[in-house]
Amino acid sequence: MLEGSLNEENIKLLIIAAVYLILFTTEHYAPYFKNRHLHLPHSLRNLTLATINALISTIFFIAILKHILTWSGNNQVGLLNQLNLPGIYSLLLALLLIDLWQYIWHRLNHQISWLWKFHQVHHADKDMDASTGLRFHPVEIIYSNLIRISIIPLIGFQLDHLLLYNILLLPITLFHHSNIKLNERIDKILRIITVTPHMHRLHHSDIQSETDSNYASVFSIWDRLFKSYTMRPIEQAFNLGLSSSYSDRQWNRIYGMLALPFANKTS
Ligand SMILES: [Zn+2]
Repeated sequence: MLEGSLNEENIKLLIIAAVYLILFTTEHYAPYFKNRHLHLPHSLRNLTLATINALISTIFFIAILKHILTWSGNNQVGLLNQLNLPGIYSLLLALLLIDLWQYIWHRLNHQISWLWKFHQVHHADKDMDASTGLRFHPVEIIYSNLIRISIIPLIGFQLDHLLLYNILLLPITLFHHSNIKLNERIDKILRIITVTPHMHRLHHSDIQSETDSNYASVFSIWDRLFKSYTMRPIEQAFNLGLSSSYSDRQWNRIYGMLALPFANKTS
């Protein structure tokens, strides 16, 4: 089983690396926010945090996650197992339910103050690019994994469901955090189905009402359905990051990102 999980992790890593390199290059030649001279050092800092998180997930959670998935499958536990739908319908419903959970969980990270303390490390980045999609505080990664482990038996997700969802989620997350300038019409068409760079960029705006909107991860429908969708013309100027001093340079170094949730002030 361990060998299998390592293979899947390698595939995930290859997909992330390939998509990231394409986006990094595109950000260089067709950026939305221009004149960023420190693209590489900025990305390397975020990727260092991402590496710490990948190690935590690999060492502590992958084996447990697989054990829970096998257990709930063998015991036919959870909604999807009880519904017993034909394979393709079960898969589609599973993808929608995982993505709905991502939406709810992300929204809770903005609404519950102690969750926000950690999630704001992701939002403090005022030079958001594809690397920001992997920039999370390790504590957020730990409790997100713990919650996910508890949700699996309730919904009855299977290993294939989570694998396919991750294969969709990771490239889309990198894409919608990227600093690439898409044609407004293309962005508009894409965001009928999925989350585009401009849609998610507004979630990283330094205006609170925009930060508290556009929470979706893969399918954009959730923001429309739950009335958290915000849009503004692609050419209209705005700033990224937090309005507080947490977006200052000191909080965007590796030590600063790790220390930020424990800093003694509110934002
Ligand atoms: Zn957020």
